[in-house]
Amino acid sequence: MQESADVVVVGAGVAGLITARELGRAGKHVLVLEARDRLGGRVWTDERFDRPLEMGGTWVHWLQPHVWAEISRLGLEVTRGPRPEKAYWLAGDQVRTGTLDGFMELIDPGMRRLLSDTMDVVPRPYAPTSSPALASVDGATVQDKLDELDLPVEEYNANEAAWVGHLNAPPSEAGFSAALRWTAATAGSWHLMHEASAVFRLTEGTRALVSALAEEARAEIRTSTTVSRIEHGDDGAVVTTADGSRITAGRVVVSLPQNILPSVEFSPALPPGKIAPAEEKAASQGVKVWIRVRGPITPFFAYSSAQHPLSVVRTEFIGQDDAVLVAFGADSTRISPDDRDAVQKALNVWRDDLEVLDSTGHDWMADPLSGETWMIHRPGQVSRYLEEQQRSEGGLHFAGSDHANLWPGFIDGAVESGLRVARQITVGE
Ligand SMILES: Cc1cc2nc3c(=O)[nH]c(=O)nc-3n(C[C@H](O)[C@H](O)[C@H](O)COP(=O)(O)OP(=O)(O)OC[C@H]3O[C@@H](n4cnc5c(N)ncnc54)[C@H](O)[C@@H]3O)c2cc1C
Repeated sequence: MQESADVVVVGAGVAGLITARELGRAGKHVLVLEARDRLGGRVWTDERFDRPLEMGGTWVHWLQPHVWAEISRLGLEVTRGPRPEKAYWLAGDQVRTGTLDGFMELIDPGMRRLLSDTMDVVPRPYAPTSSPALASVDGATVQDKLDELDLPVEEYNANEAAWVGHLNAPPSEAGFSAALRWTAATAGSWHLMHEASAVFRLTEGTRALVSALAEEARAEIRTSTTVSRIEHGDDGAVVTTADGSRITAGRVVVSLPQNILPSVEFSPALPPGKIAPAEEKAASQGVKVWIRVRGPITPFFAYSSAQHPLSVVRTEFIGQDDAVLVAFGADSTRISPDDRDAVQKALNVWRDDLEVLDSTGHDWMADPLSGETWMIHRPGQVSRYLEEQQRSEGGLHFAGSDHANLWPGFIDGAVESGLRVARQITVGE
């Protein structure tokens, strides 16, 4: 007899797990199918360099209401990395040094001018497309808007590098709407936006969140099970896995990253507004690198420019004999996280006194089960596609941080989307 479930959830990232938890609680028989041999998707705590290193999503904040509610409910602890005592940045090819506060003062005028219209353009960040003003700026890139400011070179480099840290993309490809939406989520304060996206992390790692969600989900979760085809109609769906098994379901929740949505065959085919963003690809295409250097060192922060392989680096763990840094660059093809020599060279842009002992990371761009890092839309994509991406198709529903409203591309957005889709199914919205 063919296997069946009330709901099949495709993907056990945070969005899929939240959906499964909510629907299991509502009494549905839920089956979660996950292609990887682990849960969590783009959050993945891996023990490397004797530390719990986050290969993907890391930072959380109390201004991210959906994930913070989970943190409170599950009693998870939050910590932060060491406070940087020194900062390095570039003015053209000149290295400047100072304090982190000094760097923040340097970028403050540019940030304020760039983001001055935030709350007019995105007055209700939890409903971004409800504002007609968003469409009027959505065609611009972050680079367009930075260039309009006509900043002196030192300020320009510093602002640009800070944005690469946020966008994980060349600013010339990232939609300006991303900058506005992030800042609107912190009521227009760029300082708070910066803190919310890059300071506090779970003490036990995101694995603590993932395992707690999986434990409390009253659902069967099957790993190493790739979904290859979904036939769907108003009355239900048939899900086919790579090994040829077929499962019938009343509803199917798809929680795949936007860029890889076409890796599953849908019958009937999905509307163009759901597939086009995958074909255009997200703007985000960067790299995250963990770097172990010889210690002891003083915690520091460094910013270069969008053109450098690593635009941002900072100290995340301090030991007696070593320290571990985390770095980000705009383009994953410029540097491999495992290439120690290239990483050493990238650090030498600021300082030649650091000895790289080892470096590591995960190439999310090359990973066929993600094909992207964290969602940053290209110009125009939010206005053209967001509502369509969120819309269900009969018995087919779409979860995923990539098309969340408030904090898209964050763990918070994954939670938000899981709650929204579970509600669509239980309340029939
Ligand atoms: C390097 C990096 C740094 C980040 N930093 C932060 C941060 O500091 N703070 C923050 O909040 N967010 C951060 N993010 C973003 C955050 O991790 C993601 O937005 C969020 O985890 C996405 O969750 P999701 O459930 O929507 O998607 P995913 O986690 O991608 O889940 C989708 C799941 O579907 C599975 N899948 C794919 N294809 C199939 C198939 N055919 N069949 C079955 N299963 C399939 C995948 O394996 C995956 O498990 C970061 C992401 C990356 C990559």
